[in-house]
This record gives sequence, structure tokens and C-alpha cells, in this order.
Amino acid sequence: KAVVEKICWQISLQMRDQQQARQELPEGRKMLEFRSNLPAYKERETILSVISKNQVVVISGETGCGKTTQIPQFILESEIESVRGAACNIICTQPRRISAMSVSERVAFERGEKLGESVGYKVRLEGMKGRDTHLLFCTTGILLRRLLADRNLKGVTHVIVDEIHERGMNEDFLLIVLKELLPHRPELKLILMSATLDAELFSSYFNGAPIVTIPGSTHPVRTLFLENILEMTGYQLTPSNQIDDYGQERAWKMNKQAPRKRKSQIVSTVEDAIRSADFKEYSLQTQESLSCWNPDCIGFNLIEYLLCDICNNKRPGAVLVFMTGWDDISSLKEKLQTHTVLGDPKRVLLLTCHGSMASSEQKLIFEEPEDGVRKIVLATNIAETSITIDDVVFVLDCGKAKETSYDALNNTPCLLPTWISKASAHQRRGRAGRVQPGECYHLYPRCVYQTFAEYQLPEILRTPLQSLCLQIKSLRLGSISDFLSRALQSPEILAVQNAVEYLKIIGALDENENLTVLGRYLTMLPMEPKLGKMLILGAIFNCLDPILTIVAGLSVRDPFLTPLDKKDLAEAAKAQFSGAYSDHLALVRAYKGWKDAEIDLRGYEYCWKNFLSFQSMKAIDALRREFIGLVTDIGLVDSNTTTCDTWSYDVNLIRAVVCYGLYPGTCSVVHNEKSFALKTMEDGQVLLYSNSVNARETKIPYPWLVFNEKIKVNSVFLRDSTAVSDSVLLLFGGSLSKGDADNHLKMLGGYLEFFMEPTVADMYQSIRRELDDFIQS
Ligand code: ADP
Ligand code: MG
Repeated sequence: KAVVEKICWQISLQMRDQQQARQELPEGRKMLEFRSNLPAYKERETILSVISKNQVVVISGETGCGKTTQIPQFILESEIESVRGAACNIICTQPRRISAMSVSERVAFERGEKLGESVGYKVRLEGMKGRDTHLLFCTTGILLRRLLADRNLKGVTHVIVDEIHERGMNEDFLLIVLKELLPHRPELKLILMSATLDAELFSSYFNGAPIVTIPGSTHPVRTLFLENILEMTGYQLTPSNQIDDYGQERAWKMNKQAPRKRKSQIVSTVEDAIRSADFKEYSLQTQESLSCWNPDCIGFNLIEYLLCDICNNKRPGAVLVFMTGWDDISSLKEKLQTHTVLGDPKRVLLLTCHGSMASSEQKLIFEEPEDGVRKIVLATNIAETSITIDDVVFVLDCGKAKETSYDALNNTPCLLPTWISKASAHQRRGRAGRVQPGECYHLYPRCVYQTFAEYQLPEILRTPLQSLCLQIKSLRLGSISDFLSRALQSPEILAVQNAVEYLKIIGALDENENLTVLGRYLTMLPMEPKLGKMLILGAIFNCLDPILTIVAGLSVRDPFLTPLDKKDLAEAAKAQFSGAYSDHLALVRAYKGWKDAEIDLRGYEYCWKNFLSFQSMKAIDALRREFIGLVTDIGLVDSNTTTCDTWSYDVNLIRAVVCYGLYPGTCSVVHNEKSFALKTMEDGQVLLYSNSVNARETKIPYPWLVFNEKIKVNSVFLRDSTAVSDSVLLLFGGSLSKGDADNHLKMLGGYLEFFMEPTVADMYQSIRRELDDFIQS
């Protein structure tokens, strides 16, 4: 022990000397000067002293004040200074992989080191971490997985949970686990970092932990709402008093006050007004086809108009555009590039910022453009708090974000654009005033802003809990509902019951809520259980290639585009890929076609001709690679045999695997004279989305459809379906774990007439058992 301590001491001394030497270098001094101007730096001593005296500390401060890059560094530096460097082991979690990567790189740079020396990162399937790494940035998911192997976080001295105000599911989950770990690890320090004012909530959850608030220093931001923006163009918006059931959107009346027009004219909706506006020389051609209110489309044209105005008339400074999601970002980017509305393309640096961007693209965002070049960043809400782009002066805010929401009563999840919260709008606005006074354009009226919730609902309260429940089980945290009742804010009991029930039906949990073999494998695949099931069975049945495409396709935005004004053409284009009564197989064919076209560098053309999203195709390609890595990692396929040549493309086999994944998402097909109707047990009649290949059929020669998603609008709509036969449903629907097969057969038997025949029942049961044994082994 004495020898080990001595070595440790020597290493620590070395670390201290190295750190001092680097700080003495000219670059080191320059960096220190930059850092010492950050608001967080001024609180350095306070923060360190509060941490040393308390086990848990909550730190809050405006975005950009230096929490993420500085605080972990303060701890590391101070440990090194006090010759404890070799023993310290700091883990800082980030909600997203992109921030873990970019922040670690930044911190290593600030310390004058290469990434992987004292500072490293780890995200799923990627990482940079060396023997001497003492500060590790990782995603929250990675720390949760580490807890799986090492319940006590042995050797870890500090855990920093960043961006807790976002209230992501993983972060909320991690906090419960850590709260229970703290008494067992009295010397472990927990630091929680948050951007907004919710600090008290976290402090009280950790028995009144002290809060350190970093005073902010932002410049004033001129704020314009839609009515102010329209006013600039000669239009005025006045909110009407009548707010109808369709939400506020339709309720604004607009007063057109264009002095050059003959008569002032009342236009009934914002959409009409914008449609008839000509915004100087930018005619709003695409608005013609608008048949219903679509704030995103309006946003598009307004954004284009405003970007133009900024590029031509405003002072230098980067522009940050907050858009709803990745799909909007890519279409706007395409539009801006093809129409060159922004003038000389050499004078514009158009970048995007979203969760799945490549790290080379990431770096460009932080770089300052050359003189006379305008940087424009189209971003999702990722740029709201976790990524700070310093030179932003103008912010455009479309007011929406894609949010997963979940309706526990209907047990129906949806990922829909929703209005952001007031807190988010405030954050977005603040991004404009980082370096100098800025301007923020909110592309919605003030009256809509006033209806926003103060804060976004925590993810744990608005999304299905299936994956979370699996994680609770794999960490052996006891009863799911007991565990969740100890959360910062506990989800509804009904939501928990639904999730557990679902996991039992799909065979991931047994009757006593214990993980089955399948369940254990599913916990190793960080994706929705239904997608994990497909990958597992795809690997077992040697048809992984098409299944990879299907699973990747279900994880990205629908690659089949349906522009409003070319709906028929688009649907006809998709129909070319049909033939198997399956949207999933249509995707497999479309992807294969694209892949072939890519060989001749004609992938883009292929997408254009077939109404496919090039971006989605590329994303599918990347995800396929990621997923094959995952199934190889957990030992389901051998890394030497992952050649596509031997993989089966048997259509009926693929149907079976898809059914295995999507069950219990099943509806029956009932034919009538001219066409057919669809029914599910819980909703009665349901409808297909018009872009489903099955929606174009008049007859489906199968008794069942399995679907991946149903969404309730006014009726219940099914998205993406595959037709399956009785035998496939009997053999692959439901759990394949032992014991449950009988129940499942009975249940299906209840509404399969032919199944009443005892000999047929026996036959199916015995095949099913053999299949079970095969899969379990
Ligand atoms: P917070 O976590 O409080 O929002 P950060 O620590 O992320 O703040 O950022 C503090 C400051 O560090 C930013 O305002 C910016 O000036 C600078 N910064 C952060 N990341 C980078 C980067 N990758 N490149 C250049 N500067 C950066
Ligand atoms: Mg931060």
C-alpha cells in the first residue's frame, strides 16, 4: 500500500509540474486570460470551496457563462494543484453525444493538451480516453451503463451531471440512482449544473443541497414577435378574441395596411396574409399550395425573407435559426442553396447544427468566418443550451421543437412538433446577446407566446417508459413502480403499468417482472425494444441486411417525401416500390435502389426522381453501420461473417421478423365488396396514412397488418404497415418465451376461426415450441 501511495504521489507531482509548465507558456497565458473573463471564472474559488464542504452542490448560471467547459476543469486543476491529480477521477455527463464530444475537445484544447490525455470522452461506439484521463465527458447513457457493471462507481471521485434543467429521461433516472448511491459513497461528490431557474427543485430533491448561482452578463436583445416583423413589411397583426378549438393558430385576424393597396382588407388568418404578401421582391410561390395552416411553411418564407434582409442590410454577426427538426433544416438548406436568394454564395457560410451531425461539421460552427462572410447556422434546439456559438448576433426562432409526447390513456406515443416553453424562448433569445447587443425574431405572435408553458414537461412524464423500465430491471433496482415513485417527479401510475404490460406482452419481462433472456439482450441495444427485437431476430434468421434497413428507416424521418403540392406524384413514386403489401419492404427496395445508384454517383438524382429524401437515405446508411456494430458487440453475429452476400432477402421471412418486432401493433383486415376496412381491438376502425403502399390497394390478400405506430388525430391513423398471414402472426406475434406461448395462442385463437380446429392448434403449438427453443438457445 505504501508503495502504491508513493507512486501515486510521484505521478501527482508530475501532473502538477506539467500543468504549471503549460500555464506558463504564451498560449497558456492567453487561454487563461480568455477563461478568466468568463463569468464562471470569477466564482472559481466559491465553487471549489462549496464543493469541498458539501457532498452535493447545484450550480446554475446563464448559458455560455462557462459551466460546462470551466467547472469540471476547475475541479481537475485544483486536484492537480493539491497533488491529488493521480487519484482524481471526474465524470461529467452530457445529454447528447455531440456535446460530450465537442466539449471534451474544447476543454483539452483549453488545457493545451490533445484529446485523450488528461481529458477524454466516451459516447456510444466511440471514445477517446487514455491511461492518464482524469476528466471524462460522456453521455448520460454511458454512465448509466457503467453503473450496470459497477454499482458503486468505484474509483470515481466526482460526478457532474450537466444540463439537468432539460429534464431528460436519462438524467432524471440517473439522479434517482445517484441519490441512492450517495450514502454508500460518502466521499463521492455530486455536482449538478443547470441553466435556468429551476435550481431549487434539484436542491430540495437532494435534501437542501447548496446552490451556487453564477451571475450572468448578457447584452440587451431587441425582441420582435411576428406582428412586429410583419409591421416592418407593412402588415399588422391583431389577435382576435375568438379562440376556437383548433388552437390559437386560426384565431388571429390580420389587418392588411399596405398603403399602396387600394383598400385595406381583412384577411382571416395569418396564413392568408402571408400568402398574399409579396415581401418585396420575394414572391411566396410555395404558399400557393397551402391548403391549411402550416406555421412551418410560413416560417420558411419568413426565414428566407429575414435572412435576406440581414445579409443585405444588417451589421456583421452570425445568424442562428432555430427550426423544428432535422427535416426542416435540410429542406431549408437545400432551398437556400438552390435559389441563392441570399446573394453571392461566397459571402455566406451556411451551416447546420443538429444531434446527428459529423464532428468535422461541428468544428465549422465554432469557427469565425472570414471578413465579409455571413455565418448562418440552421439549428435544432440543441443550440439552445448545450452548444454555444459565440458570434451570434441575430436569432430567428420558429417557436417549435420536435417533442416526444405520450398519451398514457391511449397508450400512443407521438413525435410531433410542439410549441416550445417560455423558458426555451428565453434561452433562444439570449443566444443573440452573447458578445454584443443582438436581435431576436420570434416567428409567432406575442399572444401565442403567452400561451406557452413556463417550462417544458420533463421527458419522464411525457414519453413511453418501456426502455426506462428495462434499464431499471437490468440495473436490478427492484420493483419498477417503487423505483419510479422516488423520482424527482414521478410518472403516472397508468403510464408505468402500460410500459410493464407492454414489456410482458413482447416477452422482455416474465410474469414476475423479471428480465427474460430476450429482455437482457434488449437492454444491451440502446433503442426502442421493438427495433431491438427485429435486429435480434434478423440476426438469428440470417436476414439482417434488409432488417438493418428497416430498423434504420424506422429510426429516421420518413424517407418517402410527400410534398403537399405533389402528393399524387409522390405517392405514385412510392407505389413503384410496393408489391409485397408492405411499407417496410418498400423501404428495403428503395434503399437498395439508392445504394446501386450511389455506385454511379447518381444517388441524389435517384432520390429526386423517386421523391426520396437524400438526407434520410444517408442517415439510414450511417445507422445501418452503427446497428451492425451493436449486434456484433453483443455477440449475435460474428464480425467475420458480416457479409451481406449470405443474407436472406426472403420476403416472407422478413415479414415474420417485422411482425416479431411490431407485435402487438396488429390490426385485422376485413374485406367488403369494393375495398377493405381495418380494425384494432382497442380502437375499432382505424385508417392508413395516405402515403402507405397499402392505402393504394383495394384488396389485401392477408388477414392482418402489423404497424409500427398509430397516431391519433381525429381518427386513429396507422403509419407504415406490413401485411402478414395467420401463421406468421401465430408463430411470431407475442412473446416467444416459454410458458407464454400457450396464452398467446389462446388469445389469437379467440378470433381466428379456423384455429378452432384442434389438430391445427396442436400443430401450431408444437411448431411454436420448437421455435421458442431454437431462439432461446
Ligand atoms: P455553459 O455551459 O455555461 O453554457 P460553456 O462552458 O459551454 O458555457 O461555454 C463557455 C464559453 O466557452 C462560451 O461562451 C464560448 O465562448 C466558449 N466555448 C465553448 N465551447 C467552445 C468551442 N468548442 N470553441 C470555442 N469556444 C467555445
Ligand atoms: Mg453548458
